[in-house]
Amino acid sequence: MQITDSCVVSIHYTLTNSEGETIEENASMDYLHGKNNIVPGLETELTGKSVDDSLKVTVTPETGYGKVNPELIQKVPRSAFDGVDSIKVGDRFQASDDDGQSQLVTIIEIQETTVTVDGNFPLAGQTLIFDVRIEEIRPASKEELEHGHAHGLGGHHH
Ligand code: ZN
Repeated sequence: MQITDSCVVSIHYTLTNSEGETIEENASMDYLHGKNNIVPGLETELTGKSVDDSLKVTVTPETGYGKVNPELIQKVPRSAFDGVDSIKVGDRFQASDDDGQSQLVTIIEIQETTVTVDGNFPLAGQTLIFDVRIEEIRPASKEELEHGHAHGLGGHHH
């Protein structure tokens, strides 16, 4: 069986960045192929591959997690963190924007009266290398196709 749209694919992978730093090691993932559940650059390269195939895929920001959007880097008053015991660069918080949408932000700088937070996905702007091995390919269930994502063993959500 080869990977085509509407297959559920199990992959095992290690993710490194262009500096050779490991971001995720020996990770596993089940995903529904052809539904944009994984970054487009990786999905394209996996099409047509078979179980036990191994491949190394380089994704750029354009085919990966997107470019850094400078508008998502903002200064907020330090008082926004009143009630938080301590904050440091690298801490991540759930923040709400003006429309009430919640967003995960990372603290990138702390000044006397302001804190600079970055709402970009942490892997945005990076060139990444996926070292992938294909473990299993199976047809998606009707329910998975309706939901647009893969379910785990036994068909439940995770
Ligand atoms: Zn579901």
